[in-house]
Amino acid sequence: GSTIGILGGGQLGRMLSVAASRLGFKTHIFEPSANPPAGQVADQVTTAGYDDIDALKAFAASVDVITYEFENIPTAALDALEAAKPIRPNREALRVSQDRLVEKAFLRDLGLTTAPFAPVTDAASLEAAIAQVGTPAILKTCRFGYDGKGQARIMEPGDADAAFEAMQGADAVLEGFVTFTHEVSVIAARSVDGQVSCYDPGENVHKDGILDTTTVPARLMPARRMDAVLIAGKILNALDYVGVMGVELFVTPQALVVNEIAPRVHNSGHWTQNGCAVDQFEQHIRAVVGWPLGDGQRHADVVMENLIGADVDRLPELTKEPDCAIHMYGKAEAKPGRKMGHVNRITKAQAAQK
Ligand code: ATP
Ligand code: MG
Ligand code: MG
Repeated sequence: GSTIGILGGGQLGRMLSVAASRLGFKTHIFEPSANPPAGQVADQVTTAGYDDIDALKAFAASVDVITYEFENIPTAALDALEAAKPIRPNREALRVSQDRLVEKAFLRDLGLTTAPFAPVTDAASLEAAIAQVGTPAILKTCRFGYDGKGQARIMEPGDADAAFEAMQGADAVLEGFVTFTHEVSVIAARSVDGQVSCYDPGENVHKDGILDTTTVPARLMPARRMDAVLIAGKILNALDYVGVMGVELFVTPQALVVNEIAPRVHNSGHWTQNGCAVDQFEQHIRAVVGWPLGDGQRHADVVMENLIGADVDRLPELTKEPDCAIHMYGKAEAKPGRKMGHVNRITKAQAAQK
């Protein structure tokens, strides 16, 4: 049997490992920190940093294909890995999604709607960016931001200095504030052969900058639902993408505004584990090993709820709820803001279609 190498040993790597194992593959996790969640379910773990080129080469030699659960993999590490084995999704998907400015320009050049944006590298360019984009606006670091970290709101021009300080010297992008009615995401997959399959869009609610719930179906008119899926397909095709991607969208009365893309399985796609025959994790593994995609049709209405930090204390009650599927990540310590697990509540089964 083949072995799939996974960069990153968090919960996404863990759920990818479980899916790979179910399909008959072995998994090898590469992760700098000790005792990662994925290590409990994978066949093999390498504990080493991304600057350890020898460890990366040995890892690559032991696997047949390499995928990842996070996008911030250093370029030198990718060079060493790619010399040995295919990386899926490809380097271009990583290059585009590692930097918000590159990503925003890529989306705009595809003809998609984004928030107005401008680059910020110093105080003068922030002033110019505010003049261009207006306020309210959000200043975001170009790299390494997640769960709303590395962001500062600029409600009026007078907030500029404090926001600039918050970037701590990092390159940033200023985005005009989008007054959306709600947020949705499309989890989309593309196979080696170029087949594209999108899951039904989910509606996302954030709490303290962290995803709280995803509800399917999302509130979208049928034409809008189709647009969301077409946007995702356009992005995947443009990148010659292989694997699963999360595409975050803001819904406004005028448009679907693309917020950001994630070149990996996505927290807002966890509902697929209990709402579809083939979930996003199996779909991603199928894609990266060159299999055809599976059936991603939604067969139930689902609400996914993240269990963050002390939410794990509710586990005893959750176990008593019928129709509540529990997914725990095996993390020892429940720190504030830490994703410990999630639940999928089946709110309504769908009659079989076709
Ligand atoms: P994630 O954990 O999804 O990767 P992130 O740190 O990359 O988050 P974003 O997704 O860019 O950050 O922003 C987090 C949230 O902040 C969005 O889901 C949205 O609610 C809000 N937000 C971000 N950009 C804008 C904007 N331009 N206009 C209005 N709201 C925004
Ligand atoms: Mg993000
Ligand atoms: Mg986001």
